[in-house]
Amino acid sequence: MRTGQRSSTLVCLITALGIWLTFIGLDLTRLDNITMIATGDGLVELAIALRLGTLAVILRLVWIVRRNRHARSYHHLTMLALTLIGVTCAFIANMYKLRGLPQADIAQLVIIAAVFLPVGLTFFQSLGVALLIAVFTTALGFVMLEPAQLAEHGRLSILLFFAVFVSAVGAWLRERAERDQFLLRRMLHSRAMSDALTGIANRRGFEEHVAMVLLQARRDRVPVVFAVLDVDHFKRYNDRYGHQAGDIALALIARAVDGTLRRPMDMVGRLGGEEFGLFLYDTTPEKAQERLEQVAQAIADLRIEHAASPTAQYITVSMGAVGFDGKETAVDLYRRADAALYAGKASGRNRVELGESGERLAG
Ligand code: GH3
Ligand code: MG
Ligand code: MG
Repeated sequence: MRTGQRSSTLVCLITALGIWLTFIGLDLTRLDNITMIATGDGLVELAIALRLGTLAVILRLVWIVRRNRHARSYHHLTMLALTLIGVTCAFIANMYKLRGLPQADIAQLVIIAAVFLPVGLTFFQSLGVALLIAVFTTALGFVMLEPAQLAEHGRLSILLFFAVFVSAVGAWLRERAERDQFLLRRMLHSRAMSDALTGIANRRGFEEHVAMVLLQARRDRVPVVFAVLDVDHFKRYNDRYGHQAGDIALALIARAVDGTLRRPMDMVGRLGGEEFGLFLYDTTPEKAQERLEQVAQAIADLRIEHAASPTAQYITVSMGAVGFDGKETAVDLYRRADAALYAGKASGRNRVELGESGERLAG
């Protein structure tokens, strides 16, 4: 979420920069700096230092967020910038009050609200900064101001804490809505990519994985194997035991295949009907044959009775496997694996048939 907030963070930072430069401009119009510094109480020098220090932190933040697309650790700087803005404004407002100059306490309320903008902070980080600013502003007034000004200051302080509360409620509701949306998007994506009957990847999910892995394999010059698995005589199974039993058998088969794949880049998906795709990373067809035979064995070991099958007493599968030649498209790869499967079906089923090897990867 924080990465996704990058552009809104930039907008907020540039707005803050603009506002800060305006404040500095207003200072220059309202204060005759040279004479004030000459009074020698040090407050004006401190105010200028705070204004410029805050400006530097904001500029640094804009720089970091602009340069680094995946900046993760700028939230400390953001918290520092917001705290500095709050502290500086409180300090300068008091300074103006002591000199009887016009100033805008209301700015403090705006700053509290701004702390809860989407600038890359978590809810509790924002709340912490807002409370810090409210507490500091309150305390600073009681330290700096004349006794006659304290009643007015007390009212401002109450208003500040009220602003923290109202802004926090709004921010909390927003964060909760964002979190819900985030989870919903993830859930919809995972539903769109998985097969309802078997729970494994559907064709779309499988193809997405294959496209990604083929790119990776090409880049790393790693051999990969693609296999198509088809249940033998499944039409007869349905005819004999019913469609519902067929569905249960498919789910069992999918789970058995999935259970044999243990390496992270390997994958099985349901391509459609009673046909599955298998993807084995970093292996050649010759090396993969044994593993594919184990897959077939795992399905045979389910001992799903199939009295109508001419091949065996229980459900068996046939597979056609080919190695990726390093150049071809996923469609060509599938076509070659399908041809191997067809050959396997023709030569008696219940077997793993290796397809013609494509042009092998060098190295
Ligand atoms: P072969 O050994 O040549 O593969 O014969 P087969 O009968 O398995 O092949 P065919 O393509 O003729 O039939 C596939 C059957 O798979 C037809 C269809 O009824 C069944 N089937 C496809 N999808 C599902 C499904 O989701 N559930 C059930 N129960 N059956 C399905
Ligand atoms: Mg079949
Ligand atoms: Mg089929």
